[in-house]
Amino acid sequence: MDIIIGAGISGLSYAAASQGDYLIIEQEDRIGGYCKTIKQEGFVWDYSGHFFHFQHPEIRDYVMERIAADEMLNVEKHTQIYYADRLVDFPFQMNIHQLPQEEFIDCLYDLFTISPTAENDLHSFKSMLYAKFGRSIAEKFLIPYNTKLYATDLDKLDIDAMGRFFPYADREQIVRNFRHPETRSYNASFLYPKEGCERIVKSIASHVDPARIALGETVSSIDTATHTVYTSRRTLHYDRLISTMPLPRLLESCSIAVPEGIYTWNKVLVFNLGFDRKGKETRNCWIYFPQRDLVFYRVGFYDNIIGQDRMSLYVEIGFPQKQANLNIAELREQTLDDLQRVGIVAPDQQLVAEHHVVMNPAYVHITKQSEADKQQRFAQLAESQVYSIGRYGEWKYCSLEDNIFDAFALAKRLATR
Ligand SMILES: Cc1cc2nc3c(=O)[nH]c(=O)nc-3n(C[C@H](O)[C@H](O)[C@H](O)COP(=O)(O)OP(=O)(O)OC[C@H]3O[C@@H](n4cnc5c(N)ncnc54)[C@H](O)[C@@H]3O)c2cc1C
Repeated sequence: MDIIIGAGISGLSYAAASQGDYLIIEQEDRIGGYCKTIKQEGFVWDYSGHFFHFQHPEIRDYVMERIAADEMLNVEKHTQIYYADRLVDFPFQMNIHQLPQEEFIDCLYDLFTISPTAENDLHSFKSMLYAKFGRSIAEKFLIPYNTKLYATDLDKLDIDAMGRFFPYADREQIVRNFRHPETRSYNASFLYPKEGCERIVKSIASHVDPARIALGETVSSIDTATHTVYTSRRTLHYDRLISTMPLPRLLESCSIAVPEGIYTWNKVLVFNLGFDRKGKETRNCWIYFPQRDLVFYRVGFYDNIIGQDRMSLYVEIGFPQKQANLNIAELREQTLDDLQRVGIVAPDQQLVAEHHVVMNPAYVHITKQSEADKQQRFAQLAESQVYSIGRYGEWKYCSLEDNIFDAFALAKRLATR
């Protein structure tokens, strides 16, 4: 029998594609993992805004087969950056012509005078930002914003830490964009279910036998020699173990020692906030905030995405994984103050519903060390029929569609053995 750890999108997708016997063990009392939706007082919130760009038509068709067309919104993506006294279109590097003139000149000058030494220095994510965009673009937005998001020194991250999710642009594209805005990127629009991202989970879960999902049960340790899983309730034997829990936790459960500091990550505190009426921001899906003196790095507007007549926000704040004891009450006050400071919330707007969640881990830190180590660990685990998949199981930056794709691929590969 396959034991699957986790009823998030990865575990459910593996089960949905599995042709054999399986049991899913999920520590929480609800399926969905990070793809859950909360409904309160007419507001629809995800753990954090989850929007979908399908690159594989077969995955889109599979997910959409059990979702009615009128349940899904196709939303034109409009996102900006709060910078100085204005809003600048995202991505920053493509829209420097919207900055105050002196800052625009700085960015342009630095972009065209990158020294050969800097250009060839690609040892880290941070050095790549200087090498590709020059000092001003790097220091005005790319470094402060990503440092806030990842809550780490960007010099520690691999140049490919964000993979295809980093919006690269060369000089020619940047200059062309001054006159001909590039709006045809692969993610110029996105899909979003009116009922929130959990609708996607339900679509996948409808292919899974609910009797084979054990909720509220935690896997505490694994004996890979005897293929035994110890949970908070029982002892189970597995033929194959498919784990979607975070890789460091899996390694610990299997008593595989990893040197300190190989796997690091950030955590993200999300405040979902519902107000009594619409705010003045009526177009943006979300706005980026690189400023160190503002607590959040991104604020999203569900009301603009879904088309609601009351402001419904998600607010994201990044922390290092090791930062203990977040003072939620204080951070909430700071968030509400900063939302007023930047003009998103008016002083007379009333907060009528709220929710918060800490996503831990949220963004894993992809480093040369973590990449090398995980390949070794995957090979070691596979010898005992243990497969670690998912965003945190594979320790990577990816989308939900990638999770479905990878889980289907593994199920297919294992079925032929
Ligand atoms: C801030 C943020 C925004 C995002 N936005 C988007 C977006 O817009 N679009 C998009 O496509 N993707 C987005 N993602 C990525 C998306 O959330 C993930 O790719 C996806 O949810 C990962 O699913 P998973 O099943 O691999 O992991 P998870 O959702 O983490 O599921 C793992 C499951 O395993 C369970 N588990 C863990 N340990 C144990 C244990 N010991 N015993 C039993 N159960 C256990 C957990 O409870 C959980 O249910 C975002 C992620 C973050 C952090």
